[in-house]
Amino acid sequence: MTRSVLVTGGNRGIGLATARALAAEGNKVAITYRNGEPPPGFFAVRCDVTDPAQVKAAVEEVAIQQGPVEILVSNAGITRDQVLIGMPEEDFRDVMETNFQAAVTVTREVVPAMIKARWGRLIYMSSINSMSGAPGQTNYASAKAAMIGFARSLAIEVGRRNITVNVVAPGMIETDMVQNVTDARRQAALARTALARTGTPEEVAAAVRFLAGDDASYVTAGVIPVTGGLGAGH
Ligand code: NDP
Repeated sequence: MTRSVLVTGGNRGIGLATARALAAEGNKVAITYRNGEPPPGFFAVRCDVTDPAQVKAAVEEVAIQQGPVEILVSNAGITRDQVLIGMPEEDFRDVMETNFQAAVTVTREVVPAMIKARWGRLIYMSSINSMSGAPGQTNYASAKAAMIGFARSLAIEVGRRNITVNVVAPGMIETDMVQNVTDARRQAALARTALARTGTPEEVAAAVRFLAGDDASYVTAGVIPVTGGLGAGH
């Protein structure tokens, strides 16, 4: 069945791979982007997810273009790594706002239509570091952990309306986000990764595709690791 999908931060990295995977399933896929030319093949809306007015406008535009959002992939995220004692307060707030608070804002905009339709899929891009912890990422791990508590609580609130809410927790995935990770940190992460390699955006997209599809109809309040074994046990 063709669904109306919105992927935040769908212009590159994991978001773009996810948008492509969901479009390949025959869905109508909209993505958000902030600057430059968005990738072709999707309905692209310019939107900074930390601005509630832009989010509201974007969700309305998507609804007009392809119908109310039925599948949300809340993927937009940033890092501002630094040990806590050296981290500017602003970097903590920006990371919380982009990774967590913005996901809440987008959710608030899309959920009413899902409740009305008695069908919906909400999928959040967290991180394995939210559970295992990572030095330099007190801000990021906090934001990504908040996402899990949020998703699980919301799953209980909306489950009776046939809306599922799940979280994907990737390990180290080759995108722009990890290009600045030091060699030492990369090697440390790989040493703890059972498959001894980084993952691809497409490997994360495959988990999202499962959660968004009919085969996941009885999967909710879940956290799916896509980590190659990094942080195993969480
Ligand atoms: P990228 O840096 O490649 O992409 C990040 C995406 O988020 C971009 O599309 C970016 O848009 C968007 N974005 C950031 N801030 C905003 C904002 N304020 N408003 C709108 N869009 C925004 O990272 P990844 O693809 O790797 O990351 C995608 C998600 O996966 C993130 O939530 C990240 O935390 C998570 N993740 C990534 C891991 C990895 O190893 N790569 C591991 C675990 C989780 P723009 O192009 O405009 O900057």
